[in-house]
Amino acid sequence: PHAASTSQSTSLAPNDLDAFWMPFTANRAFRARPRLIAGAEGMHYVTVDGRRILDGAAGLWCCNAGHGREPIVRAIQAQAAQLDFSPTFQYGHPAAFTLASRLAELAPGDLNHVFFANSGSEAADTALKIAIAYWQARGKATKTRLIGRERGYHGVGFGGISVGGISGNRKSFGTLLAGVDHLPHTYNRAEQAFTHGQPAWGAHLADELERLVALHDASTIAAVIVEPMAGSTGVLPPPQGYLERLRALCDRHDILLIYDEVITGFGRLGAPFAAERFGVVPDMLTFAKGVTSGTVPMGGVIARAGVFEAFMQGPPHMIELFHGYTYSAHPLACAAGLAALDLYRDEDLFARARKLEKAFGDAVQALKGLPGVLDIRNIGLAAGIDLAPAKDDAGKDAPGKRGLAAIESGFHDHDVLLRLGGDTIALSPPLIASEDDIAALVDRVAGVIAATG
Ligand code: PLP
Repeated sequence: PHAASTSQSTSLAPNDLDAFWMPFTANRAFRARPRLIAGAEGMHYVTVDGRRILDGAAGLWCCNAGHGREPIVRAIQAQAAQLDFSPTFQYGHPAAFTLASRLAELAPGDLNHVFFANSGSEAADTALKIAIAYWQARGKATKTRLIGRERGYHGVGFGGISVGGISGNRKSFGTLLAGVDHLPHTYNRAEQAFTHGQPAWGAHLADELERLVALHDASTIAAVIVEPMAGSTGVLPPPQGYLERLRALCDRHDILLIYDEVITGFGRLGAPFAAERFGVVPDMLTFAKGVTSGTVPMGGVIARAGVFEAFMQGPPHMIELFHGYTYSAHPLACAAGLAALDLYRDEDLFARARKLEKAFGDAVQALKGLPGVLDIRNIGLAAGIDLAPAKDDAGKDAPGKRGLAAIESGFHDHDVLLRLGGDTIALSPPLIASEDDIAALVDRVAGVIAATG
């Protein structure tokens, strides 16, 4: 059933690992002990030496339909043969319009205009730029301030790291954007440890927006951007009632609410978007990753009708938004996106994730009590497992050291691919996972925890 052929590539063993400066990677540790992947099918990766590795992370939260899915492979091949590239500045190709319509249908409410980018980072920066330009178009040009949240991740562009709340991603890159402030994050271990789904404690933290409005005045604030469920900092589901309060405050003060749905979009939480799962609709949402099931880079922003309409003023020959990427709505990405959306629909994968949520959550929460497990959180087909950090030679905490050990142990000894953020394991299996796959995944994670504790 899967189109991927690995026989050729498994014989390929790179003999020089020097030239590739690897992203978000401990390059020297990797070179000392490489983890090389040559193929993938279904729930598994295949290593260069032919071992099958269970994919506990859907690649990087993106391969929601699993790997090597033939309908997507065929669509990409056919599109490459038919139309390799088309500009989308002042021209268009049919698949771009079809995909935009399909995404508009999938998104709740009147989120129905789609701007395409090529990654989650570009999507975040696009949404922030649209927010500022929107208020200018509406004659409120002083509304330029952007509010992010601690522990937020919005990619690595200057906009995204400015509103983002991960110090490691910010501290080396200068002054960042001016005119940014942050809400507090919503995690409190004492109040929330080992919660299934949305914690009961924490809705009041949305009221911190009132404090920022009092400090800066709403007349200077363009938008608030949050991940409805913070993914990269360890799977932090929103406290019950939090998003509702944030929405109400944004409405009260005429502030746009942006959801970064790069991880939560396309079924991760058992619904097309988190906006639907939580019943709270933003003014814009960003997407990437799962839109093509990770096969071809693509990202974008879906805006409500009123946001789009604000730009459609002035002389019709004028470009309304001076923004876009050469590869916005690239034909290969559009073809992959249409095929992925068809697969999600035909296999009912979002509902499947919702159905599996309880079994997945129960299995993951059963890791409570293993030595060094500090907290476990789960929602949809996502879970975060906080591990006690390893010590350095002087006996002090060495954050991240155990995380890397877990990656190495998983890959080399337990045949599982894991995503680690610091010392937190984030599980996000492809949505095609069976209950057996989930049991195997949790079993291997238990092995990794024991081996690194
Ligand atoms: N936003 C969120 C919420 C993400 O999780 C990510 C990536 O993990 C991004 C943005 C950045 O996406 P990309 O790596 O495609 O630029």
